[in-house]
Amino acid sequence: MQLTSYNKKKIRRRTPGGASIVAYKYKRHSAHKCGICKKELHGKPSGRNAYVSNLSKSQRTVERPFGGMLCSKCSRNIISLKAKLKHGIIAKAETPISLKRYLQ
Ligand SMILES: [Zn+2]
Repeated sequence: MQLTSYNKKKIRRRTPGGASIVAYKYKRHSAHKCGICKKELHGKPSGRNAYVSNLSKSQRTVERPFGGMLCSKCSRNIISLKAKLKHGIIAKAETPISLKRYLQ
């Protein structure tokens, strides 16, 4: 992978000889986060593409509904809301707007 504008970070340094130089480093990869509560997701590796694509498919994602998108608590909540909507226990208008995209 080459250092390009989207993946590099500029660092200014002073060398032992006293000169100021500009060095470039790869940006650090942030962890994947839950779409609702923004908690860090387990079982979803983050890193350079070369590293992640060498893993097996089951090591790259979580194999359950909403796996790799939502944390376990939020996905449990969404699944229960979906079932309640299906059986008419709650109306669609009663569900929070922020969860609308997961309840389709
Ligand atoms: Zn969550």
